[in-house]
Parts: sequence; C-alpha cells; structure tokens
Amino acid sequence: MPANNNAGFNTRAVHAGQAFEPRTGAVVPPLHFSSTYAQDGIGNLRDGYEYGRGGNPTRDALQEQLAALEGGTHAYSFSSGLAAEDSLIRAIARPGDHIVLGNDAYGGTYRLINRVLGGWGIGNSPVDMSDLDAVAAAVAANKTRIVWVETPSNPMMKITDIAALAAVAHDAGALLVVDNTFASPYLQTPLALGADVVVHSTTKYIGGHSDVVGGAIVVKDAELAEKIGFVQFAVGAVSGPMDAFLTTRGLKTLGVRMDRHSENGQAVAEWLLQRPEVEAVLYPGLPSHPGHELAKKQMKKFGGMVSVQFRGGEAAARTVAENTSVFTLAESLGGIESLMNYPSEMTHASVKGTELAVPVNLIRLSCGIEEAEDLIADLEQAFTKINS
Ligand SMILES: *Cc1c(COP(=O)(O)O)cnc(C)c1O
Repeated sequence: MPANNNAGFNTRAVHAGQAFEPRTGAVVPPLHFSSTYAQDGIGNLRDGYEYGRGGNPTRDALQEQLAALEGGTHAYSFSSGLAAEDSLIRAIARPGDHIVLGNDAYGGTYRLINRVLGGWGIGNSPVDMSDLDAVAAAVAANKTRIVWVETPSNPMMKITDIAALAAVAHDAGALLVVDNTFASPYLQTPLALGADVVVHSTTKYIGGHSDVVGGAIVVKDAELAEKIGFVQFAVGAVSGPMDAFLTTRGLKTLGVRMDRHSENGQAVAEWLLQRPEVEAVLYPGLPSHPGHELAKKQMKKFGGMVSVQFRGGEAAARTVAENTSVFTLAESLGGIESLMNYPSEMTHASVKGTELAVPVNLIRLSCGIEEAEDLIADLEQAFTKINS
C-alpha cells in the first residue's frame, strides 16, 4: 500500500513504505543486503538503484515510513543520531555561521557542535529555550543559521513552544531544528508546528527495543532535502540494511508502545511526587510542571521519560540508581525495558563542569512497557536503601 498521508498514525506506521513484495506476495518486504545493482547497459538502472551508499530498498522503505509519520516530504536514515546531526549541520551551515541551542541539550549534541564543528568555524550559544527573549537576543547577536531545540529536553524535561520558537528563528532567517527523540512522532509532530527539520536518535523510541543504533532527519522542503541527501550520499553515514530493517519493525508498533510508556510514566511520576525522599519530579504530565499546559497543547501524551531529584543529594541519587532490578542501570532510553540513568556521570558526563551540567541529585528514568506496579515496587525497595 502506498503511503496514504491521510490515514491515521498507526495505519501509516504499519503500511507506509511497506508494500508487499510483488513476485511472491511476501507481506513483509524483503531485507536487501546487496551493496550493488546490475545495470541493463551502462547507466541504465533498475528503479534508480546503483550502489548501496546511494540507495537501498530496505533503507528507502524506512525513510518513506519516517516521512509519513513526521508529516514530512523527505526522510534520511543514518547510522546514528549524531551522524544525522553532523550531516544536517554540514548541509546547512558554513564557517562563520552560528547555532543557538538549548542550554540543556543532549550532551553528545553539544559535544559535536562545540568540540567538533566549533573547530571548523561554526559558533554556538547555549540558551534557555523556554525564555524566548533570551533566544531572540542570542539569535540577533550572531550570524545565526540554526536554532536547535529538544522538547521535552534531556534530562531536565523542559517544554519549549515550538511554534513560537519557529517564528523567532524565521524572523532572523534561521532554520528551526527540533530533536524529536523524546516525544517521537506519535506524541508530537514539529514540522506541523512550523519547524523546518526534525532529527531523531532512532536508537530510542523509534527503534524501541534497544537492539539497534540509528538516526534520522525529516524535512518538508525539496531544496533543503536535496542538500541533506547530497551530504548523506557524499559523507556516507547511512544506516545499514539490517539496522534499517530493525528500525522499521520497531516503528510499526510505535503508537501502541508510546501509549503504554506514557501511562507508566504518569503512574511513576505521580508516585514519586508523594514521596518524602523526593525534592522534585520533572514530568510534563504533572499539573505542577511549568510546561504542563504547553505540553498539553503541542503533545498528544507526555511520554515515558521522568527525571527525579532527591533531597538526600548525590548520595541518595546514586543509591537508588544502584539498587533497582526491574529498572536496569544503563545509558540510552526509549526501549520496552525500563532503564535508569545517572546523567551527570553517564549520558551527560561530557558536559560536566559546563553550563549544561546536570544536577548531581538527579536520576532519569525511562519507563518501559512493564506493569506500572512492578516499576513502582522496584523504586520503593530502592528508596528504603537511602540513608536518612
Ligand atoms: C541519544 C540521543 C542523541 C544521539 O543519538 P545516537 O543515536 O546515540 O547517536 C541525540 N539526541 C537525543 C535527545 C538523544 O537522546
């Protein structure tokens, strides 16, 4: 079935790019490993396929599925989220250009922008994205080409108004890039709110099973798409066929998984909120969260990511992080199994000592699809280990 962009989300997730194989009728499109394609005479290609870096049917199927779910016209699948980000920035920024990004951006994104691309003359200013005046000032003070935001942000769970930020970026002739990894296209579609580009670490919710590393870019503009497609081809950070296949398989169930992740996130956040050990619960589904009303407006549900800060400081956070058994202590997020992360020493160790540093009393929970009661019981027994 061709991608019918009017169909509902789950219908698009299951069918976009997934037409059955015409020769045998195989319902699941075959996984194409071939690195090269026979030519019917010099330059006479079958369906445009020439060489695996330039095109692969399994990768194309994933790209079609991604574009249909984000409401874009073109999608590109990469070997990792950071590979996607690197190709994206090199496609649209040049030496002397500037990037304004959230001051709680994913640590790896900041490391790429600051320590790698900074060396090639691309400047950056980290600012609080929920303060639109501060963003506008940083954008105006430089030759800003890109405004880069994560909402919800990782791991501080801040919510930024995508439509308002798009207006700020466009007023200055810059592009708005939204890292939609935390929300996934099921909960939030930034292109419809005015963003120019969506990036993903498909390693997380899109793959959804902690068994593949990948990244993606989705756009809605043909000219921008051509620039990105050229860099993807010229630089070559494409996803391999097996990775693309696993990502497609995960993406088919994104909607049903996100419903469950969101239910569990809400239950865990509400439980944490009434615990005496807890100083703050950062979850946009709580009415007490400063971004709650905005999140209700621009997201379908609130997702499975919950950050929590402890009154007992670093010691309490470390104790809980090291004493759970249903939650696994590990980097990453978005899989069906619950994960626990201590950002200041794990995912965000690369920004320690900078203004992007994460509080030492914070742990980040990625609530999986297990039973909520089991997740809560696991946290409860870990809380008894905190020395009060
Ligand atoms: C993990 C992550 C990335 C980087 O993606 P990789 O697939 O690990 O390269 C970027 N942004 C966010 C929000 C992430 O969580």
